Amino acid sequence: MKFEILHTSSKSRARVGRIYTPHGVIDTPNFVAVGTNGTLKAIDNQTVHEIGLQLMFCNTYHLMLQPGTETIRDAGGLHKFMNRTLPVITDSGGFQVFSLAYGSVANELKSKGTKKTDGSVLKISEEGVLFRSYRDGKKILLTPESSIEAQKNLGADIIIPFDELPPYHIEKEALVQSLERTHRWEKRSLEAHLKNPQDQAMYAVIHGGIDEGLRKISCDFLGHLPFDGFAIGGSLGKNKPEMIGMLTDMMPLLPPEKPNHLLGIGDLESITACIPLGIDTFDSSYPTRAARHGMALTKNGPLNLTQGQQAKRLEPIERDCLCHTCRHFTVAYLNHLFKAREMTALTLTSIHNLHFMVELMRDYRERVASDLI
Ligand SMILES: [Zn+2]
Repeated sequence: MKFEILHTSSKSRARVGRIYTPHGVIDTPNFVAVGTNGTLKAIDNQTVHEIGLQLMFCNTYHLMLQPGTETIRDAGGLHKFMNRTLPVITDSGGFQVFSLAYGSVANELKSKGTKKTDGSVLKISEEGVLFRSYRDGKKILLTPESSIEAQKNLGADIIIPFDELPPYHIEKEALVQSLERTHRWEKRSLEAHLKNPQDQAMYAVIHGGIDEGLRKISCDFLGHLPFDGFAIGGSLGKNKPEMIGMLTDMMPLLPPEKPNHLLGIGDLESITACIPLGIDTFDSSYPTRAARHGMALTKNGPLNLTQGQQAKRLEPIERDCLCHTCRHFTVAYLNHLFKAREMTALTLTSIHNLHFMVELMRDYRERVASDLI
């Protein structure tokens, strides 16, 4: 993998770059759609290709439980298995194991940190994490080495080391211990990866929660190891201002010549706020999830396709949109499909929203290149 910075804004830390991978180029800043099970929900990979989405995020945890990473390896790797010729990034599986156990920050805040776990995590030790599969109840030990082996089987262009996701509510001392273990796990992951690089790149995951000092320690430690880029993970705070404050302090501490990725954040407001901080890529299931709820993204804000007032609008979602949906179908028709609970509604709206994200990011790159951001 090679990363080239084409322009750094004179106005902010925003930059326009290009990541070269074995499966093609990723222009940055860019949006990364999430295809948990090897597909975006309601859109097949051939269509995703035509929309021009340059990087897709798949979840090792889910693919490990089904169909199994060996099955995918034997099929010729994830790209071939799911018919995608463009770049793919996979995570370590750790995030899902821990987040299914602890729940989201929002749930945690609701329960004021009293909720322990759902019982799926059986044991966390220096070796790794023992958990119970939600599919068949089988016990699985996920370690840095087994996560990397799974990601070697999948063969994504960018892979992620195994880390621990501590809950948002955690005592400082426990957070420090978690951070230290995560660093040891990430180092072990990197060593396992470098034994058989397979032309894959590995991004470290910066941790430390919302503690400025711990984020700095994490940047220092991981920044001195031969990772190809950096993902920002761990608890990103309970709300956007907290996340943006943390990133504002942290981003200048990362090696500027390497690409970075903000894990699991890709709503429009966060993208607007984080590009000036120097974030290169964002992954989120937001645009496809919104689509499934009848929400079309437009330059004038979200449009609820399910509302009665859309029933007679014989025009596309956006007049100047060149997506498949806007070229062939009207809002009235989409409104009808949602009311009739036709699955085509989800597909057509997802296509528009994904196209919207691709165009939005192109526009951001142009604005950064012109020093407007
Ligand atoms: Zn459209």
